[in-house]
Parts: sequence; structure tokens; C-alpha cells
Amino acid sequence: MFNLPSLRLGRLFGIPLEINPTWLIIFVLISATLSFSYYPAAFPGRTPFVNLTSGILTALLFFASIVIHELSHSLVARTGGMKVKKVTLFLFGGVAQMEDEPASPMREFVMAAAGPLASFALAAIFYLGYVVSAASGVSDVLWAPLQYLALINFGVGVFNLLPGFPLDGGRVLRSLLWGLSGDHLKATLWASRSGQFIGYAMVALAVIGVVQGFFDLIWFGLIGWFIATLAEGAYRQQVVKSTLEGVEVRSIMSPDPMVAPATITLDRLAEEYFLGGRHSRYPVELDGAIIGIVSLRDAKRVPREEWPVTHVSDVTDRDLARLVVDADTPVESVLERLSGEEPGALLVVENGKVIGIVTRTDVVSRIRRASI
Ligand SMILES: [Zn+2]
Repeated sequence: MFNLPSLRLGRLFGIPLEINPTWLIIFVLISATLSFSYYPAAFPGRTPFVNLTSGILTALLFFASIVIHELSHSLVARTGGMKVKKVTLFLFGGVAQMEDEPASPMREFVMAAAGPLASFALAAIFYLGYVVSAASGVSDVLWAPLQYLALINFGVGVFNLLPGFPLDGGRVLRSLLWGLSGDHLKATLWASRSGQFIGYAMVALAVIGVVQGFFDLIWFGLIGWFIATLAEGAYRQQVVKSTLEGVEVRSIMSPDPMVAPATITLDRLAEEYFLGGRHSRYPVELDGAIIGIVSLRDAKRVPREEWPVTHVSDVTDRDLARLVVDADTPVESVLERLSGEEPGALLVVENGKVIGIVTRTDVVSRIRRASI
């Protein structure tokens, strides 16, 4: 659902700000809760129009606060030399996406702490505004949103400091463990386990609450489930990164692969290569040179009855710029090319000669071996 295309609103400090369509759900939910439940209960006697206007404006200011929280992470990260991709508002709040991970525990600590600090600062500013305006005797229509925003920003700050990945507090925890132990992977493991624990504890609390009739807790449980899922993913991602760090393509490739002649028919290719061999992709050779890769998928695009008269060269993927990789390339940098649907395999070249082929399976088995 979060894969829905986001709407780009513009840039703040040069950082793209996007809104995911799922954000509308939470925006409507919060506006409605404020307009039809919170304000009417706190201030009986107001007209529904006042409550609705006030509710929507308060919700907008709340999300502006979330943007400021995420921008604080982003600006601190950028000061530390990291590239910030974008800030996105979505169903569960906001997220600042970085292009890389912090290079040191200190940088991660400062970057993670910046968000909750911004929320506490906002809470203080709104609280001050509330106290001053309430004391000066202006209408509650003016000070009530400030009171709510002070409270909710304080809540956002506290919640985000819970010490589990992917919450800010989890990053703070990871940076501390990382700094103390020097082991980035272990620090990630503990911070994400803690995140899973917090997430599932929230789910459990929500279930108990809902059984007793507190249906508002469904939302709390959903957030918990989301946190637990992300926590698990964060650790797996780190395993992949750590395992592949410094590994060159040559060390995981299949060397001296079988090569399919471009001149044989698809019939023969199927029989001698796909059925007999272990692979579903082969380099294709014509006049002593490798001209591309042929895959079972490419062959299957041709109707079966045409296989006896179609040649391998007719279905070979010849986009060498995309298919060829140097033997000393880091595996990390070809992951994207391997993980997509196509090409799924790359020809490994050294001194202008194809010395191997590398597929997604090679990467997966490397990671599996390392994580046992
Ligand atoms: Zn944050």
C-alpha cells in the first residue's frame, strides 16, 4: 500500500517533501476525532462549524509539526555529510529517507536525537503560546489548538524515544551500542530485537484493550505491528550490507560458465542447456565472442511450435552495457541490477574476457552461508 506513488508538494531547504495517498486516511481520522469528539467534549456549546474548522486546522498544524520533526533529522544528517532523498508523510506519520547510513555512532546519535528534540521544542513553543493566550482572556477557539498541539508534540517526542528500531530511540540505542561495542551488526541486531519487542507489546496491549471494549486501541496495535515488521526488516537489511561489504563480484560468480552458441535453435537450447544444465540463463557466443545472455524467459516468449526454426541469436538480450560487469566490482553496487525482474544475471568480465556469470541466486546463497 505504501508503494502508491506519492505526491510531491515541493522542496523545503532543498529537500523534496512528498505526501503518500495513505496519509489522507490518518489526516481525516485525526481531523474527525478532533472535530467530532475532542473539541465538542472539551468545549460544549460551540457550533459544529467552529469545531470542524478548528479540527482541520489543528490537524494541519500537527502534520506541519511532523514535517518539522523529519526536517530536523534531515538537516542534521545533511550537516553530517549524508544525502537526504526526501521527507514523506504517510499513514503512520512521517519519514525522512536518507541515501546512506550514518558513518559513525556519533553521527547516528545526533541525527536520531534531533527529531524528538524538535518535537519537544515545538511542544514548549505551543505550550507557551497556550499559556499566554489563555491568560490574556482570548477565546478558547484560539488557545485550545495550541494546548492540544503542545500535548501531542510532547507525546510524539516521548513515543519516538522508545528504544527500539525503527523509532528514533532505537537509533539512539543502536548508536550507543555501536559506539560501545564497535560492532555495527550486533548493535543493529539488539536495537531491532528491542523494536520487535516494543511493536509486539503494543499489539498485545491493543488486543487486550479491544477485547475490553477500547476500540481506539486498534490504531495503536496497527502502529505496533508496523514497527515490529520494520524492525525485523532493518536487521535483515543490515545482514545483507555487512555480508556483502568489500566482497567483489568475482568471489561469488559461477566461473567458466557453459556458453550457448548463437546459431543453435531454441529446441536444442532447451534440451541441452535448460533441461540438462542447472541454470536458466547462459552467455551466448557468436564467432568466438560473447554477444549477450539468453534466458529461459526469453525463449518462452516464442511459441513452442516455432522453437525448431528460431535461433538463440533471435532472442538473445544483447544490451551489453547493462549485462556486463567488471570482476572487481563490489557486489553491493550490482544488487539493484540483479534484484529486479531483468536481466537477473550479469556477465563478469576481466581483461575483456567473460570469466563468469553472476545471478541473484549467487548473492542469496552467499548471504545464507554468512547468516547461519
Ligand atoms: Zn523521528
